Amino acid sequence: MEKKALPRELTDSHGRTVRYLRISVTDRCNLCCRYCRTREVPFIEHEKILRFEEMEEIVRLAVNFGVHKLRLTGGEPFARKGFMSFLKNLRLRFPRLALRLTTNGTLLAPYLEDLKELGVSVNLSLDSLDREKFAAITRRDMLPLVTDNLRRMLELGIPLKINAVAMRGVNEADLPALASLAMEHPVDVRFIEFMPMGDESIWSNDSFWPAAQILEAARTHWRLEAVRDSGESADAATVQERGPARLWKLRTPDGRLSRGHFGLITSVSQSFCHSCNRLRLTADGHLRTCLFDDREYPIRDVLRKEGPEAVARIMAEAVAGKPVGADILAARRGPVARKRMSAIGG
Ligand code: SAM
Repeated sequence: MEKKALPRELTDSHGRTVRYLRISVTDRCNLCCRYCRTREVPFIEHEKILRFEEMEEIVRLAVNFGVHKLRLTGGEPFARKGFMSFLKNLRLRFPRLALRLTTNGTLLAPYLEDLKELGVSVNLSLDSLDREKFAAITRRDMLPLVTDNLRRMLELGIPLKINAVAMRGVNEADLPALASLAMEHPVDVRFIEFMPMGDESIWSNDSFWPAAQILEAARTHWRLEAVRDSGESADAATVQERGPARLWKLRTPDGRLSRGHFGLITSVSQSFCHSCNRLRLTADGHLRTCLFDDREYPIRDVLRKEGPEAVARIMAEAVAGKPVGADILAARRGPVARKRMSAIGG
């Protein structure tokens, strides 16, 4: 029987087209954040993790399908040996691909100049600027490394966003210090609603700090001026780049305007699933079409045994069946995803 032709793009049954691939390059991490891993757990065996050449092959297929943005995440990307060479290869091979990185910032020091040269934008995960609180959340006393690298990234002019997981009773008091970074520097500081992920999640109704209340808390310090979608003037680039975040400029009581933005990512209270354009690849070689959906499509062994065309077919089939994550969240009784965020990549 003749094989069906591959589609030109990866479009799902809700009319959404994938333009954005996120790869978790490793599940290994040198931090052990309580909201991500409830305890120190064994990492996935090395042979089960996709090789960098294999990840590159998946990127090639995705680019052929019209993907133009790639985020590398983890685990901690720099915890994997050879990660910088992988990034350099990607840049050489796909010069037009927008390259993004999500990192905890602890291992960046030797690589900052290279990141700048490669034009990689960085999302830095930082939930507190208080050393003890940081150590309590991440189980590691490493805040000074992160703040040093943050300062150097600002000096080098690396495009930067800061993401904090908003947890009631944990880092509410950290909002003014974190948001002040957007006041003083051209960075967006975004609070992400805590998502009920993983079997062993510490998520609870009590620890969930909804976006509406985060906004209220910010308003006790600044006047918030919403960034319009019209894409005018200085905000135009940011609007295109903001992804699912809602953004505001901050204004102090004496009239000073922030250089960056304050943002909210309302993954739980107000989903952005209707415009989701993402496809995820886990560290152990499974495609996931939705963060909240446990259905996975194994492609590691397919790639090894049958080659790229068979993988391209699975990509098309997976995306065709991509669900609406908000429906999964609405129907949930407990946490939504069995796999840990460190293997999915956030
Ligand atoms: N190690 C890197 C880092 O720290 O940025 C990348 C991996 S980490 C899993 C990716 C993102 O997922 C981080 O911004 C983290 O804060 C976020 N994350 C993990 N678990 C979460 C949860 N339950 N709810 C919301 N965000 C979560």
